[in-house]
Amino acid sequence: MVKSSGKLESIALALFVTMFFSPVNNAFSLESAKNNQTHAATHDTSHAASNAASHESSHKTATTAAHGGSHAATHGASSSSHEVSGLSPEESLEKLLAGYRRFQTDTASQKDLKKAISETANSQSPFAAIVTCSDSRVPPELIFDANIGELFIVRVAGNVSEPYSVGSVEYAVEHLGTRLVVVLGHSKCGAVSAALSKLREGNITYLVHKIEPGIKDIIKNQAQIQDKVTVASKQNMKYQIMKLIESSSAIEEKYKSGKIKIIGMYYDVAQGIMTIENH
Ligand SMILES: [Zn+2]
Repeated sequence: MVKSSGKLESIALALFVTMFFSPVNNAFSLESAKNNQTHAATHDTSHAASNAASHESSHKTATTAAHGGSHAATHGASSSSHEVSGLSPEESLEKLLAGYRRFQTDTASQKDLKKAISETANSQSPFAAIVTCSDSRVPPELIFDANIGELFIVRVAGNVSEPYSVGSVEYAVEHLGTRLVVVLGHSKCGAVSAALSKLREGNITYLVHKIEPGIKDIIKNQAQIQDKVTVASKQNMKYQIMKLIESSSAIEEKYKSGKIKIIGMYYDVAQGIMTIENH
């Protein structure tokens, strides 16, 4: 008896929180949309509307879903939302790019980290998996203005596809519902430079061996190539995508059937600019 009344109280509290605080989120988001002017906000809100309705309904009863749907659009508009499960690959990409636009225009969202920690305490549903380099100038959470629980990140010098990184991505797409995978290469990459100079040094040699096959032609003709590190980094990113797909039957099946999207991006560390290279 005590138990069931406790449950009812929790449900009532949840409903109260939803109904009472949604307009607050609404106001906050409208305010931040105003501050953000047109850039990220317009894109993000229109897109968030469809996502949010689905994530809301999965967390609430059918009766509150419709109600929650209308407010949820703005909740999703701030990137502090963690309830992102159910996003399609395209929606995930839109969300990621909206975050990047906020980063680029210096309008990163305010994040309630404690709230994010408590919301993700028991589960995670990151909307994107990012495979990128360990380079300290390429921090995905900052570049994509993401909060705790939103990005599943694999970092290894040269963003190489080897069993540990492939296994990590496999886990995200198989068990966490992640439907967007990004391999993010970058300019002035030390690992790619090491491969270009055929460096053999301790365990770095293993990384170099994973990069060399994809940039063989550049290594051979590098004297004639202007900005060879940039050219090689972009080619390495594409090569690592190919290795990622061919090293995992689970990833390959999901990719070929369109259940997941795998995209190559390139980040310029001097300009702070990211481009989509391989869509
Ligand atoms: Zn690098």
